[in-house]
Amino acid sequence: MTVNLLDYDLEGLAAFCEQLGEKRFRAVQLFRWIHQKGATQFDQMTDLAKSLRLKLPQAARVQVPRVVSRHESTDGTIKWLFDVGNGDVIETVFIPEADRGTLCISSQAGCAVGCRFCSTGHQGFSRNLTTGEIVSQLWFAEHFLRGHLGRGDRVISNVVMMGMGEPLQNYGQLLPALKVMLDDHAYGLSRRRVTVSTSGVVPMMDRLARDCPVALAVSLHAPEDALRNSLVPLNKKYPIAELLNACARYQAFAPRDFITFEYCMLDGVNDSAEHARALVALMQEHASSGLSCKLNLIPFNPFPASGLVRSQMSQVMTFAQVLMDAGIVTTVRKTRGDDIDAACGQLAGDIRDRTDANARMAAQRQGMLGGIKVVVAGKVAP
Ligand code: SAH
Ligand code: SF4
Repeated sequence: MTVNLLDYDLEGLAAFCEQLGEKRFRAVQLFRWIHQKGATQFDQMTDLAKSLRLKLPQAARVQVPRVVSRHESTDGTIKWLFDVGNGDVIETVFIPEADRGTLCISSQAGCAVGCRFCSTGHQGFSRNLTTGEIVSQLWFAEHFLRGHLGRGDRVISNVVMMGMGEPLQNYGQLLPALKVMLDDHAYGLSRRRVTVSTSGVVPMMDRLARDCPVALAVSLHAPEDALRNSLVPLNKKYPIAELLNACARYQAFAPRDFITFEYCMLDGVNDSAEHARALVALMQEHASSGLSCKLNLIPFNPFPASGLVRSQMSQVMTFAQVLMDAGIVTTVRKTRGDDIDAACGQLAGDIRDRTDANARMAAQRQGMLGGIKVVVAGKVAP
């Protein structure tokens, strides 16, 4: 079995070249061919040393998951579904804006955290994505979009790990993928333009700070533990105080001068002015330990199984005003790609139901599994 070169960061690719009896520096050329030029065939790589070019086909491949479907919104948002085998489907969303292009990437098929307001969470966990499957989403979208938009240069300027899954519960595969995103010989994104979003896996936040401190978004959703326990079950393991202490520690390494907190606005659950005041008190309490924050309010995108309702816009605005009056930078996330059900973490297909994967795929192709309105995460980028 050959190895998939999309599974390697530059260090891994250098080690692979060495195994083939080649010089480590050859990896740079190979890496550039794959990621910057989008090559998948070794005979395309004309300036590669001939010895290496001859050995590669027996040892390696460049393999991207099959695209199941692509939907394009009238606002330019594009959503792809990729088949990662065994009935599992993941989603990737591109969100174009005037000054940037953001790609929202999945890290797992399903998610084990099981947040009450999240469609991915309701589906349960299937498996971790490989580094190659994470990187493939960027590789594919970037090279597709260059052709699609007729652009020769870089199209994707920002990446947010806000698709399906909890990235910090797939740390081993995530880390090399982040390194590929940041590498100047690949996508050359700056650390501030790559955001990992987490529901609060505290030990892994500390590891990320040491290994690859990219921008951090934390899904908070509640100002106190009893409520957060009921929305984000992981809170029972890492309660709010521990989480915010970890955020303050992260801040010392973070590429931006704030951590973004995401707060999904759920009607009658966490959206009162009282909750907003509790949130202000919480943030003020932790400011003394060095935490500075930005709040990103996300109007909930309902799906039937949740039994939850989106907050009224007037309620969202009242909530935002309480935060802003206390001097907290607050944004309300815009909905994008509404007409194509495009949003991070909101794949409509039920990946746990494996009884008839083929029928499900066919249904997906026909758009029968849509119906979930989702907010696209594009607002945490600079
Ligand atoms: N697992 C990570 C990243 C993926 S979820 C995390 O939880 O942070 C990305 C974002 O989408 C999270 O902030 C999450 O709270 C939000 N989200 C999930 N379901 C949503 C829904 N139905 N409506 C609005 N936002 C949702
Ligand atoms: Fe998992 Fe994030 Fe969804 Fe929670 S919100 S279930 S952590 S993907």
